[in-house]
Amino acid sequence: MSDFKIHILGCGSAKPNLYHHPSCTVLNIRESLYMIDCGEGAQLEMQRQRLKFNRLNHIFLTHLHGDHVFGLPGLLGSLSLMKRQGTVTVHTFREGIAILRQMMDFFNQEMSYNLVFHEIKPESAVIYEDKHIKVRTIALNHRVPCVGYVFEEQPRRRHLDRAAADFHGVPVAMYRRIIAGEDFVKTDGIRVPNAALTRDPSPQASYAHIGDTAYVPAIAQEIGPVNVLYHESTYLKENIHDAAKRGHSTAAQAAMMARGCGAGRLLLGHYSSRYKDDSLFLKEAQEIFPDTVAGNEGLCISL
Ligand SMILES: [Zn+2]
Repeated sequence: MSDFKIHILGCGSAKPNLYHHPSCTVLNIRESLYMIDCGEGAQLEMQRQRLKFNRLNHIFLTHLHGDHVFGLPGLLGSLSLMKRQGTVTVHTFREGIAILRQMMDFFNQEMSYNLVFHEIKPESAVIYEDKHIKVRTIALNHRVPCVGYVFEEQPRRRHLDRAAADFHGVPVAMYRRIIAGEDFVKTDGIRVPNAALTRDPSPQASYAHIGDTAYVPAIAQEIGPVNVLYHESTYLKENIHDAAKRGHSTAAQAAMMARGCGAGRLLLGHYSSRYKDDSLFLKEAQEIFPDTVAGNEGLCISL
């Protein structure tokens, strides 16, 4: 089973409609859930997609527009109704902390869990790290301060070669240390190097979430060759001027970014409701970057 899954809970833009919820994405990394943005409908989609609320510990907001935030007070309140325990951390700008704290103080005076706000800045920096992942922000160019996020899995452990371990007489009690990288010294003093007992770990998975933003080619270097790049594609290229004016991108620009950073796959989303046919976004992007997937509620990509 994959250790890193990307779930799309909302991939529409500002106005919810019958086809799409506003922005929300959940990463399931080794059974811990990390949410990026929380538009309306997020908590219903979590239930629909059978994502466990008690596994959600971190919520990362890209910016403070309603289509990325309006689901959050409801979700935080519901967690309390569910008697959620432990700590939930919301990563956002200082203004977001002030607004959300005021709402939670008014509407949820008896919280069952510890709600923590972590202030981030609209700049590029490592903002969070745990045993599973490292998260860094990328400053974007939207109408208000906005960041993208890059999630990089922490190095995985080496694989034990059981046959080699048996051959060299490694006791089971030492397996953990061998996997961690130690050599094995036999009772006669002969040293068996770690490379003879283990195989390289599986490659680390990575995901970049870039939206909302005007097209900024220079950030491709910063993003790097991630496995999957989500890049907003609010508009089609026929409306490129609207995109620039509103601080958004076209599907073609999303594809150019995927090519520029060397992404394995491109994931589109944040579609404007002015277009009635989502397949146009996919077609436009695939002309430049064939390995493109159109985001849709319920879509799950395993890395
Ligand atoms: Zn938006």
